[in-house]
This record gives sequence, C-alpha cells and structure tokens, in this order.
Amino acid sequence: MFGLIGHSTSFEAARRKALDLGFDHIAEGDLDVWCSAPPQLVEHVEITSPVGKTIEGAYIDSCFVPEMLSRFKTARRKVLNAMELAQKKGINITALGGFTSIIFENFNLLQHQTVRSTTLDWARFTTGNTHTAWVICRQVEINAPTLGIDLSKARVAVVGATGDIGSAVCRWLAARTSVGELLLVARQQQPLLDLQQELGGGRILPLDEAIPEADVVVWVASMPRTLQIDQDRLQKPCLMIDGGYPKNLDAKVAGGGIHVLKGGIVEFCRDIGWSMMEIAEMEKPQRQMFACFAEAMLLEFEQCHTNFSWGRNNITLEKMDFIGEASLRHGFSTLNLHSQLHAAAA
Ligand code: NDP
Repeated sequence: MFGLIGHSTSFEAARRKALDLGFDHIAEGDLDVWCSAPPQLVEHVEITSPVGKTIEGAYIDSCFVPEMLSRFKTARRKVLNAMELAQKKGINITALGGFTSIIFENFNLLQHQTVRSTTLDWARFTTGNTHTAWVICRQVEINAPTLGIDLSKARVAVVGATGDIGSAVCRWLAARTSVGELLLVARQQQPLLDLQQELGGGRILPLDEAIPEADVVVWVASMPRTLQIDQDRLQKPCLMIDGGYPKNLDAKVAGGGIHVLKGGIVEFCRDIGWSMMEIAEMEKPQRQMFACFAEAMLLEFEQCHTNFSWGRNNITLEKMDFIGEASLRHGFSTLNLHSQLHAAAA
C-alpha cells in the first residue's frame, strides 16, 4: 500500500475542504484550533497501471496549512503526527508532499524518530524528489524544442541549483541533455562552487543577471512573493518551468513570448477516483498530481519499499533512470505546454 501526506494550499481552502468532508467542528475553528487538529486519513484509492498491476493507497491530510510555517513546533508536530499515522496504518511507502518534505529537511526531523510510542521507520517514507527532478528535466527536453529553443545551444538557468531537486536537475541537464550552458543560481556561494566542481562546468550568477541571459529557466526554489521580474529584460522565447511550491510564476511573467509551465506535475493515463488533487488546484484533478506523490505509487508498483529519495543531494542519474522508466511503464506522462493550454482554453 502507498500513502500520500499532503495539506491544503491555504487556511481558507482547508476550512472549505473540512466542511465538505463533514468535519464541521474543525472547519469552524480558528488557526489555533487547527494547530491542535490531528492528521486525518481522508481517502482510499485503487489504481491499475497499463501493465495490469493494481495497487491500493491512502491520502493523509496532515492538517498543516502554510499559515503555520512560522510556528516551528506546530509545523514539526504536524509532519511527525502524519508520518506516525501512515506507519500505524501499515502503509509501506509514503510520499511527503507539499511543504511537508521541506519541513522534514529544514527542521531536521531526523532527530525526532520517536513519536509517542512509535519509532518512525524512515524506510517507509520518500520525499519524492527523484521523480520530481526527472519530470522537470523531461519537461525541459520536451517543451523547449516546441518553442524553437535548441537545447544544445541554449542557456539554461537553474534557480535553486544547489538544492536537492536543483542539483539533480543540473546533473541530468549537464550529462544527459548536454545543454549549451548551465547558469547556476542560489544565494550561498560555497555550495555553488562545490556543485560547479562536481559538474565540471556551469556559470555561477546572481538571479538578476542569470534570468535575462536564459532561454530556459528552471525554478526549484521557494521564491519570495515579492519577487519582481522585468518581462522586457527576458529572452524571447523563454521557457520557464515553475517547479517551486506554491506555483506563482504564471501570474508574474507569462505572455509576450514567455511561456510558463507548471513543473514537477504528471498526468496518469486514466481517471483516478479520488478527490485529493482538487485541494492542490490541479487543472485535471482526476489525473494530474505532483510528481513526488506519483513516486510513492511507482515504488509500490515496483514493490520497491525503501526511502528512495532521502536526505539532501543524494539523487543520482541511475536513480532518475530507474524512476523515469517506471513512470513511463506505469502510465504517467509529464505536463506539457500544449496540454496546459488546452486545459486553460476548455
Ligand atoms: P532545497 O531546500 O533542497 O533547495 C532549495 C534551493 O533553493 C537551494 O539551492 C537554495 O540555495 C535555493 N534558494 C532558496 N531561496 C532562494 C532565493 N531567494 N534565491 C535563489 N535561490 C534560493 O529544496 P528542494 O530541492 O527540496 O525543493 C525545491 C523547490 O521545489 C521547493 O520550492 C519545493 O516546494 C518544490 N517542490 C516541488 C514539487 C512539485 O511541484 N512536484 C515537489 C517537491 C518540491 P540557497 O539557500 O543557497 O539560496
């Protein structure tokens, strides 16, 4: 059985969802009430892959909302409690979705393996970042040529290059795609220098210098809401893959030769009878999902019950190959510009 741990995109959205599900007493509570609300297993699903294999899964809402990010202890408790519930339900492999994997890493939850009487078994959890990184790379490879961008000559900026997803994307784009030039963007210099050495290339640039030079920009950093991008200074055409969470680039820059694609999103080949992706505001919630969620499904399809994506900067090209092949075999495809356009027009 696979599991997905997620959360609503905002406190308001969470309240609406709780009302829909009949949790009226929680829905009407203020943020303090929500801070003490336990995680809920809200949905069971069954999925059959095109190769005929059927798996079962469950969605656990951590009852975390982004408004709690500044409440360090609450955020930590929400993620650990949801993981404890997943383990107690006997789920073999559970993906940490949305902010939950970021909270796990950044708040160093490895130090909190015991939750009440449960010792968390890390092998039952995955961040899903390997699949996310592979999907983003395929989105670059598939969509840049449709805009007339020749990747062998293109400058590709990776914003968040030293992160877990970003470093994997850089490894792939340098070794497998062989892009013209990689522009490496992050705030801290030493990790950038280490990455440059590992890759044997790539140019380190500050954000405001990299963006105007880039034919393709991969955003794999949570950017401040106040970030301003001057459309007039960008290359045209320019493909922007919005791999961050939440996805907010579209409203800032799309149009006039700037093409923004939601990054790290996959579509399953048939409808899944679930409602959980409605809260994630997917255009086709019956089929589309975050690639990190799909990673748990893929590991279950493959009976690979291990913390496949774990820790920071451990994603290898071989792991990306494995999860990419599984993704194709079990009926997933990446979200592409043309499918995004069709959905917007419908
Ligand atoms: P990490 O914390 O490992 O990496 C974040 C990276 O962003 C680092 O390189 C960091 O470097 C850089 N960064 C952070 N702030 C800035 C800034 N203001 N300007 C430039 N660089 C910055 O994160 P992950 O790799 O795990 O995740 C990256 C993003 O992907 C997150 O936003 C996450 O939510 C999203 N994500 C999306 C998924 C999906 O859509 N399917 C699934 C999983 C994650 P430095 O600190 O030196 O600046």
